[in-house]
Amino acid sequence: MNIAPQLFHKISYGLYIIASKKDRKFNGQIANTVFQLTSEPIKIAVSINKQNLTHEFIKQSRIFSVSILSKETPMKFIGHFGFKSGREVDKFKDINYKLGINGAPIVLDNCLGYLEAKVIGEIDIGTHTLFIGEVVAAEIMRDIEPITYDYYHKVKGGKTPMTAPTYIKEEKEVKKMDKYVCTVCGYVYDPKVGDPDSGIKPGTPFEELPDNWTCPVCGASKDAFKREE
Ligand code: FE
Repeated sequence: MNIAPQLFHKISYGLYIIASKKDRKFNGQIANTVFQLTSEPIKIAVSINKQNLTHEFIKQSRIFSVSILSKETPMKFIGHFGFKSGREVDKFKDINYKLGINGAPIVLDNCLGYLEAKVIGEIDIGTHTLFIGEVVAAEIMRDIEPITYDYYHKVKGGKTPMTAPTYIKEEKEVKKMDKYVCTVCGYVYDPKVGDPDSGIKPGTPFEELPDNWTCPVCGASKDAFKREE
């Protein structure tokens, strides 16, 4: 059978933070697979990798929250929840959240709304568990656009419009402008785009990034990057 991996990028998804708790600890992670199953009562499903700490937390507490990320969410914030493990860092340390009615933490930063669910079923699907939850609360906080998985990928590849001043254009002609890929998370540093979130101007070659520059998504150092083939 011929399976084209690109086909799966054509399926539309959003981007969410799934959060749960275990005893007094909180954790959350990014997921794109959240979908509504029924409307009366409202049931949803989320697919969570068994290796993730959030999986362990949901397994035990049987509750989780889903916060819907806005289109303007900085890559760093997505990286904080998406490319770090709660086993190493407390992801809730410096962010705004509140406790839901079931006691699950609900991420508020960069989110337009959230729902809370209690687990009513689960299906072992190999690498992941599909948790089925009945929604016990849902609230819209801000009427803004949600981010889509597609948008996230396109932004990652560099959607920033080219507004480089002339001197940058001249520099580009003489400097190497290779793209570099983060071997940890797959983020691509594109010199044409720079890293505006970290104050790196468009037209900055990878070689000229400050030594203390880190991957805007996962926080890996420059050493973790390799030139894109
Ligand atoms: Fe990275």
